Amino acid sequence: MRITMIGTGYVGLVSGVCFSEFGFDVTCVDIDAEKIERLNRMEVPIFEPGLDDLIERNYADKRLTFTTDFDSAVGQADVVFIAVGTPSRRGDGEADLTYVYEAARRLAHAMKPGTVVVIKSTVVVGTCRKVAEIIAAERPGLDFSIASNPEFLREGSAIEDFMRPDRVVVGVVDTRGEEALRRLYRPLFLRETPIVVTTLENAELIKYASNAFLAMKITFINEVADLCEKVGGDVQKVASAIGLDKRIGSKFLHAGPGYGGSCFPKDTTALAATARKYDTALRLVETTIEVNDARKRAMAERVLNALGADPAGKTVGILGIAFKPNTDDVRDAPSLVIVPALQAAGVRVRAHDPEAQEQAAPLLPGVEWCDAPYDVANGADVLAVLTEWNVYRGLSPRALAERMRGRTVVDMRNIWPAEEIAEAGLTHVGIGRAPTRG
Ligand code: NAD
Repeated sequence: MRITMIGTGYVGLVSGVCFSEFGFDVTCVDIDAEKIERLNRMEVPIFEPGLDDLIERNYADKRLTFTTDFDSAVGQADVVFIAVGTPSRRGDGEADLTYVYEAARRLAHAMKPGTVVVIKSTVVVGTCRKVAEIIAAERPGLDFSIASNPEFLREGSAIEDFMRPDRVVVGVVDTRGEEALRRLYRPLFLRETPIVVTTLENAELIKYASNAFLAMKITFINEVADLCEKVGGDVQKVASAIGLDKRIGSKFLHAGPGYGGSCFPKDTTALAATARKYDTALRLVETTIEVNDARKRAMAERVLNALGADPAGKTVGILGIAFKPNTDDVRDAPSLVIVPALQAAGVRVRAHDPEAQEQAAPLLPGVEWCDAPYDVANGADVLAVLTEWNVYRGLSPRALAERMRGRTVVDMRNIWPAEEIAEAGLTHVGIGRAPTRG
């Protein structure tokens, strides 16, 4: 079975590469010529652990190709995946489906009869049927199948997530679509991965409801963290005990500066907008969005408070800009709210991120970028951890203290034992617990 993946971003590239690793012939197509040129030179345009090795191997074995030639890539495929972006639409927060519909219109003219068209992008309920209507209108009488196969991988562990998912969700309208997808995911049967086969609408809703639930879970523990700070609790102790309850589970109970990234913010907003459109307010989701937005701003306030009465002219060192570790993605990262808020108060910001500097630099003008984590501490009045990269965990508190001008560390990910920071003479301001003074 030949697969064509339209859109070679985080999802399309990882999915395409993993399907080629399963032994299928995969063509990845993108309108971004530079991205395709880089891939053909074996330069991976995103940072995702393990991806470069898989690309090299499957490319060398000629199961994986990269092209901008949309029509021939689509024309030779048995299954075409649409994995283009679905960002938030400016103004109303609804998902912008322009790229999906544009891809559908183009592929309608290029595909051969009998093709299975699979929407992998996260799309609001009703979109897959609309894509089928677009194809039918562009090529009346053409025989094809439409299917939905939302993706649940997480950046930073995308390959592992794709190869060992908790479940695969497939929305179909006919047996041809179902059989094609079952065949593509057959390598996962050995691991007894559940395959949920359902309607297009259910598949679309499952994706949004999953992301909204996870966003709510994070936001819930963040609010519990605020309460812990007021009453002398410790959110890490509370969260780990809550998580032992199997009905709740331990994942996504880490308090921090608010969720970010390319999915939760836009997907919660899109789900809320869809619900409003159908007159079914999802009040928990609406509140989650509000609380999370406010939290990012509150984190900037926390750093400003640590700087004292007059923050203007002072220096803050920031460790971590990406929305989470092991990715270079900065879309909707808390840093994009926190850093400009500090700069607006006249603060100088020095920052380090192991992978995200290239993507972040154009979005965060005025930041002084440091090549090494310790350099961030040089002359800093406050040091703030925004992303829990492993490389920050082992930094020596004493070495940081020697470089800093001020005495406060705002550890928004609770990566450092507060006592060790205090022993070095620094005050540790964590999340969901009282500060530990040095
Ligand atoms: P991305 O922005 O990284 O990649 C999208 C790619 O599509 C870009 O390279 C763009 O050039 C390309 N593209 C746009 N129009 C095209 C066209 N007509 N033909 C060919 N290529 C085209 O996006 P992403 O992060 O990979 O997300 C893709 C979809 O997957 C979104 O709907 C997203 O919500 C969903 N998703 C993302 C993640 C994630 O962690 N990033 C996880 C699950 C689901």
